[in-house]
Amino acid sequence: MPVPVTPKAEANLTEMCSSIQGEGILVGCRQIFLRFAECNLNCRYCDTDFSKTEFCRVEPLSNAGPIELIANPVGQESLLKLVDHWCREAPGVHHSISLTGGEPLLQQQTLAEWLPQLRKLLPIYLETNGTLPELLAPLLAHLDWISMDIKLHSQTGLTTDWDVHRRFLQLANKRNCYVKVVVGVTTPDSELRMAAELITEVSKNIPLILQPVTVGHKVSVSPQRLMAMQQRVAAIHENVRIIPQTHVFMNLI
Ligand code: SF4
Repeated sequence: MPVPVTPKAEANLTEMCSSIQGEGILVGCRQIFLRFAECNLNCRYCDTDFSKTEFCRVEPLSNAGPIELIANPVGQESLLKLVDHWCREAPGVHHSISLTGGEPLLQQQTLAEWLPQLRKLLPIYLETNGTLPELLAPLLAHLDWISMDIKLHSQTGLTTDWDVHRRFLQLANKRNCYVKVVVGVTTPDSELRMAAELITEVSKNIPLILQPVTVGHKVSVSPQRLMAMQQRVAAIHENVRIIPQTHVFMNLI
């Protein structure tokens, strides 16, 4: 199925905000989040409404004050103005700009135009499901950090395309990157082994984060099972950490 790509330098965003990164290797860092509409997957555990909206919600800088609405699709000028404003209002606080979704790479042509300008303000961090290597390749030079998923069938309900994930990681490894794998009580050791083997084949230095599924604001996997998973994976790929979705516990989006 051909991948739909927005043809102009404007994009459908559902939300823009300044918040604390709650997942992965940069947990705790303050970022400016640009949440892109649409996704090419439909994971069973997905907690994000990525459907296109008429307006993009703009949260106030410190989560205090009224929410603004900007008409979609959002153009480069209004985006740069807002990011620049936040950088001046809160100098030094933001680590980077997080491109999140949905799947941001679906709007690759827009990103190719936006990123050189945005990167003059802050480093760029891409959060991606790791399934669209052809769309990642032309953007690599504009990215500082890549957080890619390996999607396990046991959690997503979808077929895991290991070859596509491998090709994606080979590209992502040219930048600062890590792999996030969402795990649950039904995740078999065989899937963990395949993920660990794939990552270590590309590089032994790539951090692997096992992220337990959150259900009702709680980590759904027991500490004992998580430590057993870590032990299994570490026998193949040593660089493995367990990090849950911490923003949930801070009531952040
Ligand atoms: S890739 Fe992410 S945004 Fe897309 S369906 Fe899966 S969890 Fe949701």
